[in-house]
Amino acid sequence: DLHPVRRALLSVSDKTGLIELGKALAARGVELLSTGGSAKALRDAGLTVKDVADVTGFPEMMDGRVKTLHPKVHGGLLALRDNEDHVAALNAHGIGEIDLLVVNLYPFEAALERGADYAEMIENIDIGGPAMIRASAKNHGFVTTVVDVEDYDALLAELDANDGQTSYAFRQKLAQIAYARTGAYDAAVSTWMAQAIGEETPRRRVFAGEIKQTLRYGENSHQKAAFYTDGSARPGVATAVQLQGKELSYNNINDTDAAYELVAEFDPAEAAAVAIIKHANPCGVATGATLLEAYQKAFDCDRTSAFGGIVALNQPLDAATAEKITEIFTEVVIAPGASDEAKEIFAKKKNLRLLLTDALPVSRAAITAYKQVAGGVLVQDKDVGYVGLDDLKVVTEAKPSDEQLQDLLFAWKVAKHVKSNAIVYVKGNATVGVGAGQMSRVDSANVAASKAERMAKELGLDDSLAKGSAVASDAFFPFADGLLEAVAAGASCVIQPGGSMRDQEVIDAANENGIAMVFTGMRHFRH
Ligand code: 5GP
Repeated sequence: DLHPVRRALLSVSDKTGLIELGKALAARGVELLSTGGSAKALRDAGLTVKDVADVTGFPEMMDGRVKTLHPKVHGGLLALRDNEDHVAALNAHGIGEIDLLVVNLYPFEAALERGADYAEMIENIDIGGPAMIRASAKNHGFVTTVVDVEDYDALLAELDANDGQTSYAFRQKLAQIAYARTGAYDAAVSTWMAQAIGEETPRRRVFAGEIKQTLRYGENSHQKAAFYTDGSARPGVATAVQLQGKELSYNNINDTDAAYELVAEFDPAEAAAVAIIKHANPCGVATGATLLEAYQKAFDCDRTSAFGGIVALNQPLDAATAEKITEIFTEVVIAPGASDEAKEIFAKKKNLRLLLTDALPVSRAAITAYKQVAGGVLVQDKDVGYVGLDDLKVVTEAKPSDEQLQDLLFAWKVAKHVKSNAIVYVKGNATVGVGAGQMSRVDSANVAASKAERMAKELGLDDSLAKGSAVASDAFFPFADGLLEAVAAGASCVIQPGGSMRDQEVIDAANENGIAMVFTGMRHFRH
């Protein structure tokens, strides 16, 4: 299954490593064919190259739209070397075999990134490149296809290991990568077009990814797993750099994402914020004048659950906070940077993973979210809904004070990141009780209240932490019972979407208990 590489076609937009590859191939006796810019670069480096235009007998034309789209090229790529008819056709038409194709495509994704206009995007759609890649990969029985600069070294190593030939397994592996590349390329084009024409639910859509890491296992040890980037380079867990600690696990990545997305809701210019996450739900979130203060407040919400948690910061990690965090076992810390001193403190904790990014996730970026279901994929806009002071409607006789309003909005921000049904108690810009993922809202209110109660005992306080707190409910109270549960826990004001058939019953209950309630008009289910 070994096949010799005697003739190669090189046509690349990204010329990184091209000269070195050309030289290495030439040194191994490989004849080089190439297109305009690539041929020039190779020739300038002193290599002997044949222009594809001389092979096809046609000049490159129409601004390069037509360069390699010719039977002299595609016949050379597609002919089955062990098929008499194919070989006869090669001979009859004077077509030379091409054994190796090295192509990287017009930089469509880069043009997208820099916000190129429509016409420029269109010109960045490569036609001949994908055509050759697909032809060559189809014929992987004989032809080797390289679409990534990072595979040049592996190609040369393969040739050296096999006396100038490539193995079937090698060609097959590269063919798989080749089709993923052309697939991702067309996915990018199609996704861009859908956006350009304002088509939010196109009849067909495609997803593409590139591996970042194979994971030891998935959510559980019997599940295989891997982590893929989506090519967007968005700041967040997928683009973070890990400075130390063991390899991240599937659950670590999921939880770190939840933590970072939550903490990014808090503007670092306004206050330091810390979120501690367990099983994708926050067990403590707080803001403060310093990260240290915010961390301490977040930790005091639920010290038991914080053990082995994931900590996200909205400001660069400083030494004092680093010192405090290392007092208990923490799985992962993610932040938009860290001081040298903080890094040194963490370096002593070998198992603690530190992830750093250049920037916080963009909390209100328009992003498409996917969820797999049996036989399909659900697609929706990511929940970037935001509610500010001006959006709140006071529905009770009692009006919330400025301080209460601040805590209500804080609780609302957190509730958005808590699995439904979510009930969140907040006092002094810190969560004091989080009830997540219960099937009834009353139960969530209960869970949050009992946590606030237990933590108060642990801290040696007489009153529950929830006493005098602001409470958020991610969706409306269908009955007054959930609200009464929160009142019993000590809540002094409520934020919720409103919109229930029994809103009046809930408002009456709030009035009877003398608490203030505001409606947001927006729901934050999270499943
Ligand atoms: P060069 O810099 O060598 O002039 O051009 C290389 C680029 O042209 C590569 O990205 C390759 O995919 C692309 N390419 C090769 N043949 C064709 C073709 O026939 N049409 C178009 N549109 N692009 C091609």
